[in-house]
Amino acid sequence: MAQKNNDEQFKNVISHAKEYGFVFQSSEIYDGLSAVYDYGQLGAELKNNIKYYWWKAMVQMHENIVGIDSAIFMHPKVWKASGHVDGFNDPMIDNKDSNKRYRADQLLENKIDELYSELANFSAENKAKFEEFQQEILGLSNEGQASWIPSFKDEDGILDNAKYPFVDEASWRFVKKGLALEVEMNLALKSENLAQLKDLIVGYKVICPISKTSNWTDVRQFNLMFSTQFGAMAEGSDEVYLRPETAQGIFVNFLNVQKSGRMKIPFGIAQIGKAFRNEVIARQFIMRMREFEQMEMQFFVRPGEDKKWFEYWKDARLKWHKALGTSPEKYRYHDHVKLAHYANAATDIEFEFPFGFKEVEGIHSRTDFDLTQHQEFSGKKMQYFDNDLNEEGKPYGNYVPYVIETSIGLDRMFLLTMINAFEEQDLSTADKQDSRTLLRLHPALAPYKVAVFPLTKKDGLPEKAREIMDTLKFDFNCIYEEKDAIGKRYRRQDAIGTPFCLTIDHQSLEDNTVTIRHRDSMEQERVAIADLGDIIGKAVSWKTLLA
Ligand code: ATP
Repeated sequence: MAQKNNDEQFKNVISHAKEYGFVFQSSEIYDGLSAVYDYGQLGAELKNNIKYYWWKAMVQMHENIVGIDSAIFMHPKVWKASGHVDGFNDPMIDNKDSNKRYRADQLLENKIDELYSELANFSAENKAKFEEFQQEILGLSNEGQASWIPSFKDEDGILDNAKYPFVDEASWRFVKKGLALEVEMNLALKSENLAQLKDLIVGYKVICPISKTSNWTDVRQFNLMFSTQFGAMAEGSDEVYLRPETAQGIFVNFLNVQKSGRMKIPFGIAQIGKAFRNEVIARQFIMRMREFEQMEMQFFVRPGEDKKWFEYWKDARLKWHKALGTSPEKYRYHDHVKLAHYANAATDIEFEFPFGFKEVEGIHSRTDFDLTQHQEFSGKKMQYFDNDLNEEGKPYGNYVPYVIETSIGLDRMFLLTMINAFEEQDLSTADKQDSRTLLRLHPALAPYKVAVFPLTKKDGLPEKAREIMDTLKFDFNCIYEEKDAIGKRYRRQDAIGTPFCLTIDHQSLEDNTVTIRHRDSMEQERVAIADLGDIIGKAVSWKTLLA
């Protein structure tokens, strides 16, 4: 039932986003382009506000972080050096009966989730014990993990371990199988053993959700980068890529920024920009797109201080999310056990979407991998001279800095914001059925801050309303509406998240006061026009989020 409600809620958010001009399918009149979306008139405003919140918090509130805007096209060698040409692949498998393509690891992850669903039958104490045990196993070396597989796969063998005596025996059989598969999948992914991935899909009887058969092709690697020809002449042109992440534009400019900005370590470079990935399975609206936007920051630190800064950014980034007023239980960290080749620590900030907890942001400790690779491939030094003194009183000297990255998907943050704000309120009373749809956006993020309504279209009220709007519009994005009854106008603003509505009536002409109506409480009060700037200004100020 809860799942059904969640699906319904998600569907409602998607249709609301379209109905009110937040998000449209790209090229809709041609039936759309899969996993590509356009932001409409209100979507563009909300997106800009989210960007601004991030830029303000990350760049302008940190003296040691600066922002850049690098090009989408980069020299093809950049992607050789970064590992994307050879390694930015997903292992894909096709079902021969439905002709549908899947990510092999996602098929297996779904199977693991199915087996782990038996954890619901564990006592809370045993569940916690299991999770500890699981972390312990996944933290072992490859050999250590592999050595456990036979006992997990032995259906009848109940784990004989004094530290973890699981007593929920029937369910433990399934959970144990899930753990075996998780370990086997991780090992196959780490060693890029595609044949083994296929064996697991077949061995664990994974079936295609469409054809319901297990008639699978072999697993193949599929590179996610889009490429295109650079230069006018087909023969003389080079293949270039549309960047799959914005981070590399920061790495290749590391010395330009450091020198021109006289930056001292630790310091950060941030940017917001488009990224492109030829996702094979694109779904869940703007959650996984082929063209999307990232907000990334690379923080350059002294080697050996990476762990400390990783913890700092993990904490700082979650605070940024929570400042928006989201209930804290909607967020969690997911520490990576299986690390990318360049990372020595990684965590995701996950949000509970209607379809489950999913990554919104990644925080990665990328070591000196990227700068060292660019140093090697370009032949240019990527070093920093640190003249601070170490414990022995000597300068730290030359080194390639270590990097902590924070990387958040702007579109996922947009979706999160919409889902979080969307509310259908029942306002029925004993004698009247009533409801309203509300976007409870933080006022600083709301597309319009204030709606200005003359009570009627005559008696000089529109002129007075325009006069008020003309003074407010320098500081706040305003919208003017004179059509329909006031109640209807309020509801329309509730649906797009406008925190304040002002009604100008005949009394306004006499005493220069208006009615201000608050979106969330629906309360109305009479205030002086001269005070409006202060009242609205306080509520929508970035200080409410950043202080
Ligand atoms: P996922 O595991 O969901 O594919 P990822 O680990 O590949 O994501 P990163 O490479 O760490 O993602 O990218 C950083 C952020 O960019 C993600 O946290 C996510 O918010 C966003 N992102 C990545 N891929 C997409 C996409 N296809 N569409 C929208 N946002 C994306």
